[in-house]
Amino acid sequence: MNTMFTESRKDRLIHERIQDPKTTRKPAGSTVCPVCKAVFKDGHWQWLESWPLGSPREICQACQRIRDNDPAGLLTLTGDSLNAQWPEILNLVRHQEQGERARHPLNRIISIDEKPETVVVATTDLHLPKRIGQALHRAFKGKLDVQYDKQGCFVRVHWTADENRNQKKKQPIARKRR
Ligand SMILES: [Zn+2]
Repeated sequence: MNTMFTESRKDRLIHERIQDPKTTRKPAGSTVCPVCKAVFKDGHWQWLESWPLGSPREICQACQRIRDNDPAGLLTLTGDSLNAQWPEILNLVRHQEQGERARHPLNRIISIDEKPETVVVATTDLHLPKRIGQALHRAFKGKLDVQYDKQGCFVRVHWTADENRNQKKKQPIARKRR
């Protein structure tokens, strides 16, 4: 029990230390975001069925970051098997976002930028890239790397689907001329 307490306390401290500076300013009373309808109540943003009529309106930090295209975190996905497993990977990414966002309205995906060999997922928060990266690592193995900037205001997570480069099959190089 002591261990669990210590672990949860440690988690909380880490959570507080890497607090997004944009979320440190708290609106007053019951405030509703006019864009996503999240409600700021009892000290945090939450999803509520209803709120008092005439509640103050203020855009939440997540909607602001989406509007400004100003991510707090980037998750980069690479690897030779990315293309082959893409439907399952995308499904897992979306599923993790839904789970996170249900409990933490400010934690969302801003964009998923698909390129032939790299996918970049931009998020409104510092926690979602790591959560998705860890879930990908659990499901598909590969290799995970998490880096916070010095101030703890930005996170870069990199997951590569290829754990072991020796297992990589050599592709014959296509010739331009026959
Ligand atoms: Zn909002």
